Formats: sequence, C-alpha cells, structure tokens
Amino acid sequence: MTLLQVQSLCKTFGGVQAVHEVSFTLQAGELLALIGPNGAGKSTTFNMVGGQLQPDHGRVLLNAENLVGLAPRAIWRKGVGRTFQIAQTFASLTVVENVQMALLSRDQRIFSWWQRANAHRRPDALALLAQVDMAAQADRPCSELAYGDVKRVELAIALAHDPQLLLMDEPTAGMAPGERVALMQLTRQLAKARRMGVLFTEHSMDVVFGQADRVAVLVRGQLLAEGTPQAIRDDARVQQAYLGS
Ligand code: ADP
Ligand code: MG
Repeated sequence: MTLLQVQSLCKTFGGVQAVHEVSFTLQAGELLALIGPNGAGKSTTFNMVGGQLQPDHGRVLLNAENLVGLAPRAIWRKGVGRTFQIAQTFASLTVVENVQMALLSRDQRIFSWWQRANAHRRPDALALLAQVDMAAQADRPCSELAYGDVKRVELAIALAHDPQLLLMDEPTAGMAPGERVALMQLTRQLAKARRMGVLFTEHSMDVVFGQADRVAVLVRGQLLAEGTPQAIRDDARVQQAYLGS
C-alpha cells in the first residue's frame, strides 16, 4: 500500500494561491525531497499534510485513510512525525530526559511523568539516542550542545513516536554544509532501517541529490516536475525555472 498520497491540494491566502493542485505519493522507506524557491509553497504543503493548515481542496491519504480535517495531534497519533526548522528541545533538561519526555508523552502519561522520569524509559531513550549517535552525550543538558547535535536529539524525539511518516521542513537550516549531509545521511539510514517515509525540504542541492530517492519541484505553488534525482537534474524545465542553469 502507498504510505502517503497527496491529491490535488490547494490553499489560498487572501488572493495568493500558495499551493495549487499539488499531487504526489511517497512509499514506506522512501525519502522524497520537496524543493523550490522561497515562497513556492513547500511549508504550506507540509502544514496541510501535518494538519496545521486545512486545505481549501484536495486529500491527504495515509495508508489510504484521509487525514484532512483531523487535528494535528490526531494526525501525529496516526504515525506522522515532524521536526521543525528551529530545533525544539527543552534546554534545561538533559539529552536523555528530552527523549524520555517524548516516550512518556507517547504513553499519554505526560501529567505524571516527572515522578518517574528519571528511571522510567531511560533504557528505551538511550537506545533511541544510540540510533542518532548521541548516547555518549545523554546526561548533558541540551543547552550545552552544538546546534547539529540538538538536531540529532530532535530526530530521536521524533523517532520516539515510531512514525510511519516523518515531515522535515528545512531540517538543516542554520547548519554547516558538512553537518547537513551528515544529518540527512543519518535520516536516510534510519528511514531505510525502519521503513519510515520521509518528506523533507532542503536548499542544499548536494543534500537533495545525494540523499533523496525522489525529488518533487514546486514553483509558484504548482508541481513542475517529479522524479529521480538524475531525472530532475536533467529536466530542462527545472533547470530553467529553478536551478538557474
Ligand atoms: P516556502 O515554504 O516554499 O518558502 P510557503 O509555503 O511558506 O513557501 O509560502 C507560499 C506562499 O504563501 C508565499 O507567497 C507566502 O507569502 C504565502 N503564505 C504562506 N503562509 C501564509 C499565511 N499564513 N498568510 C498569508 N500568506 C501566506
Ligand atoms: Mg518554507
């Protein structure tokens, strides 16, 4: 079964057609990069998939079930995780406590978490941190981490809910070029190992063409092209409209 089917999504803001008749699919274990210039409609598309925005028209199917109309939290419970452009962790908690919090909130015991948090779920949290190469820094406060490491903790937090689909809107914003490649290589390994679909936006073409299985190009709210990295690189319309060569 197809993991994600986005069908004819439309969204206007005032008179501005931010997203117009956008359709694409994503399979389990696949990485799809949604690229396009600033203002192309990438974030609006992400927000309609995640439920933060309601589409004017169109459907978002997860395993053939329509998500449109569900609240963001209901969509999250169905297996759609998110990371954010600005990494969101609790700076005053340690690395491992941040992941324990995420595990506890999955268990819906968020209101009684703190009495038990120190012991509860620590082994599970450490196992998740090992998957993002952060186990050695488990007991440091998040406030002391380098930005690239905070991003990896954020990835572990997203994985705590064992998502089927992970939405990453500009996950590498603010990172150095080498760190960008490393974060998305790690994401790619995790997606393959877990059979998790990943929809991401990224400005670095090195990352896009190196890590995505498929690329979809948005220009002025419309899908211009979609295909393998090689096909997109060779597409004359994409070169003209976007890559500028
Ligand atoms: P991208 O993420 O590709 O840079 P966005 O989805 O953020 O693009 O924006 C697409 C278009 O929609 C832009 O013209 C933007 O100004 C407009 N837009 C996005 N969000 C809003 C909003 N909440 N209100 C009004 N216009 C918006
Ligand atoms: Mg955006």
